Amino acid sequence: MKPPKSQPDMEMLRERAAVLTEALPYLRQFRGHTVVVKYGGAAMVEAKLRTEVLKDIVLVEQVGLRPVVVHGGGPEISEMMRRLGKEPKFVEGLRVSDAETVAIAQMVLLGSTNPELVAEIARQGGRAIGLSGKDSGLVTASKLAGPRDLGFVGEVAEVNAGLLNGLLDQGFIPVIAPIAPGPEGETYNINADHFAARVAGALKASKLVLLTDVRGVLKDKSDPSTLISELGAAQAKKMIGAGEIEAGMIPKVEACLDALAAGVAKCHIIDGRLPHAILMELLTDYGIGTMVVQ
Ligand code: ADP
Ligand code: MG
Repeated sequence: MKPPKSQPDMEMLRERAAVLTEALPYLRQFRGHTVVVKYGGAAMVEAKLRTEVLKDIVLVEQVGLRPVVVHGGGPEISEMMRRLGKEPKFVEGLRVSDAETVAIAQMVLLGSTNPELVAEIARQGGRAIGLSGKDSGLVTASKLAGPRDLGFVGEVAEVNAGLLNGLLDQGFIPVIAPIAPGPEGETYNINADHFAARVAGALKASKLVLLTDVRGVLKDKSDPSTLISELGAAQAKKMIGAGEIEAGMIPKVEACLDALAAGVAKCHIIDGRLPHAILMELLTDYGIGTMVVQ
């Protein structure tokens, strides 16, 4: 930080104070509330953007919220798979995961993505602690039920909310990779949106924020101007059925509906490429992105 100038720019100082004052009602409203942020995709790959996103998370913790980060790592896992001679395959946004794929996912998420996020939060002055479902039984999984066999793709069976609340009480920012053990000691790869929804539900979070690489849910996915600000369950199901919501957007919408059903008050899909998207969502009245409602 630069030392204060001898001739302060009063206008700028006044503006800065005004910004803080305007945020006060939101800070009051959210003080002590838990917010689960799912972070992944393009917004996580770009280093400068990543620093900005993590800085915002440190800031919201400093002003009294309890942020929990769940991260993906899709592009990095796919890249490592290709380097090891495996072609990534997806069914409705979920990665088909044989034993080798889940081993690669675990290696990338816990060996690279997770510690990098933790280190960057530390650099921004936050106290992050890196976890996966495997740490002290934080999250257990079972094989994802469904019409197709996706291998070791799991769904969350149970979340140890007490463990996370204990960490949050001490001012830690939990940063969780969506890997969890099954009943036979097998490892499951869980879509990070699904994982974040269950964590938010178990914590009775006030908000679930899914950061992604598009503005939100689009009516026409090739046209960013067709953002849907508020998406209800019925419309979401219709759009999935019609193929208008597809691929990685399916688990996001499912995650929001799942979290709402579990008692999470508000669920938002927002553009992680937008500078300060998290602050705009949490500390202003401007609803950016898509809010999913029941
Ligand atoms: P993340 O890494 O954030 O989970 P995903 O690639 O898994 O990102 O999911 C986001 C992607 O979903 C978008 O980049 C877009 O290509 C796709 N998508 C499919 N249908 C829609 C839609 N209706 N609106 C917006 N994005 C959609
Ligand atoms: Mg995804």
